Amino acid sequence: MPVDRAKAVATQCCSSRESVRPCFARAALVEMRNLRGEASGLVPEEVHTVIIDSLSLTPEEVSVMRYDLIVVGGGPAGMMAAATAGGQGLKVALLEKNEKLGKKLYITGKGRCNVTNFGDMEDFERNIMTNKKFLYSSLYSFANYQLIELLKSLGVKTKVERGNRVFPASDKSSDVIKALQKHLVNNHVDIKLHTEVRQVLVKDNRVCGVLLADNSRVDGEKVLLATGGLSYRQTGSTGDGYQMARSLGHTVGELRPALVPLEIGEAWVKELQGLALKNVLVRAVVKKRTVAEEFGEMLFTHFGVSGPVILSISSHLNKHSGLPARLVIDLKPALSAEQLDRRVQRDFTKFSGKHLKNALDDLLPQRLIPVILALSGVDIHKKVDQVTRQEREQLVQALKNVVLTVQGTRPLNEAIVTSGGIKVKEINPSTLESKVISGLYFAGEVIDVDALTGGYNLQIAFSTGYLGGISAALNTH
Ligand SMILES: Cc1cc2nc3c(=O)[nH]c(=O)nc-3n(C[C@H](O)[C@H](O)[C@H](O)COP(=O)(O)OP(=O)(O)OC[C@H]3O[C@@H](n4cnc5c(N)ncnc54)[C@H](O)[C@@H]3O)c2cc1C
Repeated sequence: MPVDRAKAVATQCCSSRESVRPCFARAALVEMRNLRGEASGLVPEEVHTVIIDSLSLTPEEVSVMRYDLIVVGGGPAGMMAAATAGGQGLKVALLEKNEKLGKKLYITGKGRCNVTNFGDMEDFERNIMTNKKFLYSSLYSFANYQLIELLKSLGVKTKVERGNRVFPASDKSSDVIKALQKHLVNNHVDIKLHTEVRQVLVKDNRVCGVLLADNSRVDGEKVLLATGGLSYRQTGSTGDGYQMARSLGHTVGELRPALVPLEIGEAWVKELQGLALKNVLVRAVVKKRTVAEEFGEMLFTHFGVSGPVILSISSHLNKHSGLPARLVIDLKPALSAEQLDRRVQRDFTKFSGKHLKNALDDLLPQRLIPVILALSGVDIHKKVDQVTRQEREQLVQALKNVVLTVQGTRPLNEAIVTSGGIKVKEINPSTLESKVISGLYFAGEVIDVDALTGGYNLQIAFSTGYLGGISAALNTH
């Protein structure tokens, strides 16, 4: 009789009144779990009620639940950690303050979710900006191909695009979220939404649970913090994990925006708002030294510049105490200055008799022509046949060296990732367990790691989530 068995297990575990709290919850949970598979006719909630009645527990006592592992944060890192630990037989709770899981994941890759990068470890090394060595164990324990395999086993086929960027074949981030939810359910993780964690509870330098915003507590032997960074706060990443870790004695490195649009001083930039440039080469120069060079696409905005090339440049600037910095844009990087000069001459022959401003249509987007002519210092009203050799050279120089002054970055909330976070020297890289508090683990963006665009940041979240989850499990058995 399942009810009797549930009672027996609970009573056996709760041999003394003092030990009722932790033992009750565990016994009930274990038994409920076992009963799930039996054709008992009793739903777990009914068994729960029977046990509560038989032990005369107060509502406060009932609200206390004990888990092997409590994962805080239902982003990619937290979901992966919880499912991995659950798969190892741990009783896991995943606590997420939002009404659903993976809110930030949903908007990644403009809704297409660049889920990882298909490059090799050297690619990862080149593209990880902060603490790459710390990440070796994580990346080796759960690599890009393993993520792709896992997604496939969960029904999500992937495709590889330019720059080895991996996306779900459907181009829908929601498919990745659904797959991860399935992974959680398959591994019996208790998912608790609308559940905000305020504090990690510690006794004798060991984790013993978490305190929720409603003042109730959840007991657990281990806690993994996967609360993300401090950008796009509306997705739930409000930096809570930094606060919690700090209060436990961890050091949090300066939090700065990375992969973030840049504010530009030159007023003419605003006139080009909305204009995208493809195949340009952008150099970032700090104190006369080129600190980064990126090729690709950029965009003019009302405040300055954005787009893939600019986002990457912003992360490089972070590493070089950024400002004052200049961006030097080569609009025609495929041509040397001499080749470009010959190209301009050909265009001038083609547009012979026309005004200069009407003779550059083959070379530049319309909106950029007056800007480039102004920067070159050549009179816009001249006819092409009147342009001197020196003026043509000035024009070529302007085409290959558009200089922008970086005045600052957009705020952290507009950054794709947060640079800075929990200091890695306080975390064991092989297990992701805290060196300060035992039983405390970290995964994802809350750690002081960040990478360039291309799927690297999500792979970091998945890899650290996996390693944190598996380490918590190995440490338990
Ligand atoms: C617009 C945008 C596009 C991006 N596109 C890509 C891309 O295509 N490819 C890529 O690799 N990376 C991309 N990124 C970066 C990537 O999304 C992050 O690096 C990744 O989401 C980090 O995962 P995480 O699990 O560590 O944190 P998050 O995804 O931030 O998840 C943290 C979770 O913790 C929850 N939480 C926080 N505090 C608490 C609390 N106190 N209690 C309970 N829950 C809490 C939050 O609600 C949130 O759900 C993009 C980022 C942005 C903003």
